Amino acid sequence: MSDDPHDRDAHTHDHGGGHHPAPLSPVEMRARALEELLTAAGIVDPTFIDGVVNAYERDIGPMNGARVVARAWVDPAYRGRLLTDATKAIAELGFGGPEGEHMVVVENTPDVHNVVVCTLCSCYPWPVLGLPPNWYKSPAYRARVVREPRAVLAEMGLVLAESVEVRVWDSSAEIRYLVLPERPPGTETLAEEELAALVTRDAMIGTAHVAARHGPISPPPSGSTPPPSGPTPPPSGPTPPPSGSTSPPRQQTP
Ligand code: FE
Repeated sequence: MSDDPHDRDAHTHDHGGGHHPAPLSPVEMRARALEELLTAAGIVDPTFIDGVVNAYERDIGPMNGARVVARAWVDPAYRGRLLTDATKAIAELGFGGPEGEHMVVVENTPDVHNVVVCTLCSCYPWPVLGLPPNWYKSPAYRARVVREPRAVLAEMGLVLAESVEVRVWDSSAEIRYLVLPERPPGTETLAEEELAALVTRDAMIGTAHVAARHGPISPPPSGSTPPPSGPTPPPSGPTPPPSGSTSPPRQQTP
């Protein structure tokens, strides 16, 4: 990698031949062209862009949300604050910022399971989960999880008992949701950091349970969750929540 801040990925170095990087996708080309124009015009400082990229590569991701969850599991007072004012409680651990200004945490219990979607696009709580996985942005997930959440969750490896109420939360430009999963049995002796290591991204979206690392507590976590299949087209407008859902009305989305 050269010192040129533009040369920060594999696509741009070694123009002299001998190395043949993968061609840029149309979206990558568009982003590159925009970045170069804005940089050349002095509108954007390339070190700022590098800083954002580095932050999402190294500092911002599901490990932040996992720390929030683990703290809530070990500290009942913190859990109370988290469920009352999530934005403020998450900021106590140093997390916040763009796409996380209005956080709501919804708690799973033996009787209630929460799952998060953005039916309109891909709204997601960046400060605590990083950038959304591709399946979260897929039309199939966005359309189907509100209409048949149990079926979608089962396809993703999470089979819920009929007695468990499923609540689907529709994220928006205003409100971003984080699921507080149930602490798995058999983890009573684990320290907060060890608990955080058990918490997966999918568990905080609500498409998986948290499993204790040892012991046949529950089905294995879906590390690489496949996207739900199905040719359902994306909704053309606000999707009606499934019966029993307490999703608030959809807000404007960027
Ligand atoms: Fe969205």
